[in-house]
Amino acid sequence: MSWGFETDPGYRKVLDWAEEFVTEEVEPVDQVITHAYDLADPLRRKLIPRLQDQVRAQGLWATHLGPELGGQGYGQLQLALLNEILGRTHSGPIVFGCQAPDSGNTEILAHYGTPELKERYLEPLIQNEIVSCYAMTEPQGGSNPVEFRTTARLDGDEWVINGEKWFGSNARFASFYIVMAVTDPEAEPHRRLSMFIVPADTPGLSIVRNSGVWGHDYEEGTHAYTRWEDVRIPRDHILGGVGQGFEVAQTRLGGGRIHHAMRTVGLVRRSLDMMLSRAVSRTARGRRLGDQQLVQEMIADSWIELEQFRLLVLRTAWRIDRYNDYKKVITDIAAVKAAMPKVLQNVAGRAVQLHGSLGISKELPLGKWLSESAHMGLVDGATELHKLSIARQLLKGVEPEPGLFPSYHVPALRAKAEQKFARELAEVAAHGTSEE
Ligand SMILES: Cc1cc2nc3c(=O)[nH]c(=O)nc-3n(C[C@H](O)[C@H](O)[C@H](O)COP(=O)(O)OP(=O)(O)OC[C@H]3O[C@@H](n4cnc5c(N)ncnc54)[C@H](O)[C@@H]3O)c2cc1C
Repeated sequence: MSWGFETDPGYRKVLDWAEEFVTEEVEPVDQVITHAYDLADPLRRKLIPRLQDQVRAQGLWATHLGPELGGQGYGQLQLALLNEILGRTHSGPIVFGCQAPDSGNTEILAHYGTPELKERYLEPLIQNEIVSCYAMTEPQGGSNPVEFRTTARLDGDEWVINGEKWFGSNARFASFYIVMAVTDPEAEPHRRLSMFIVPADTPGLSIVRNSGVWGHDYEEGTHAYTRWEDVRIPRDHILGGVGQGFEVAQTRLGGGRIHHAMRTVGLVRRSLDMMLSRAVSRTARGRRLGDQQLVQEMIADSWIELEQFRLLVLRTAWRIDRYNDYKKVITDIAAVKAAMPKVLQNVAGRAVQLHGSLGISKELPLGKWLSESAHMGLVDGATELHKLSIARQLLKGVEPEPGLFPSYHVPALRAKAEQKFARELAEVAAHGTSEE
């Protein structure tokens, strides 16, 4: 039997190095660059690659990947502990080579790309010489595959893609897209779609506009509304078989969702740390905020929610490593995904309240994190859908009760117990407790 909550001392040293490196080197970079994904930004080019070299020298580059792809094959549990540290930063994931959506796109290419596609796209993606976009959601139908209208049809040796995609993150920085399109409209829902890789400069592919989101004050947003008009790609640019798009998507989404959750632990913890600091530094009516009982309740609730969430994330990561099959951990991943926005909303929200007007101002990142809790309720699928999935899994195979009243009905349980202990009950009724 093994059951423990301790980090092995060797890996603890790794985490201690990462903690110091992120505090001293990565967090300052966040203060001066706008988009860690904008490879053309001259300041970014000066600051980020040299940090990436230090991470490589420590053997911490893209640790989620197996050694055959240049990573450490650390597995999800070790990655979870590392991601808790990176999660509080914007640049951390890219400095350590494990940023979304590239990490998920890497998994797809590694599993389904031809050797030529791997050489052309996977190698430079792993090294962060390029970045990528994942285009699945559509403007009229969200991420419900049944509603998708973007089509891909084979014409000689080329696929021809037509349609529109919505909210593709980082499209304007990307060298290629991984896009999901309908290849057989008549097939049953999960066999209608296929996945393709499309170079970003392919004629016919254009960005209609880049949407911005709350909490990010850039002039131009980074979530693209894209139009696909007779976009032609070679026949071998399909990833997986025709009709396998849904399965291919699961390869990336399972990992993507849990990685977001790991990073969220870092944001929630930082929000709580800020609350604690404020609680002992600010006074109201002659007492520290932390001496007020309602504030103490805010602190206690936040710690409980953080620790519950963190254990769920770590256990899910452990189960992914244990089974090496996302299908076996669907419910766990959905649970983590559904819990994530709420815990960040609650804890960052309380931290805003405790910091008063400073909390609401743009001089602290708390308002941004509060907005990000809303992003998390949507990115990689709305919370409601994950809850539906959990309930469906839990209800699967549960048999209805045969009788009018349930088998756990207390009168029935009592009658059964009275039958089981009939002799003892009769003896006690005849002699009372005198035998004792
Ligand atoms: C920050 C961010 C980054 C993103 N990046 C990408 C990306 O890179 N690539 C990409 O393809 N997409 C991306 N998305 C899009 C994301 O996948 C969608 O927002 C999400 O799937 C929901 O689709 P929708 O926004 O169209 O909402 P809709 O599908 O319109 O849903 C709106 C709401 O309706 C309710 N609802 C919908 N369906 C059901 C149901 N079956 N039962 C109960 N209630 C339901 C839910 O409350 C849901 O939030 C991103 C989104 C965000 C916020």
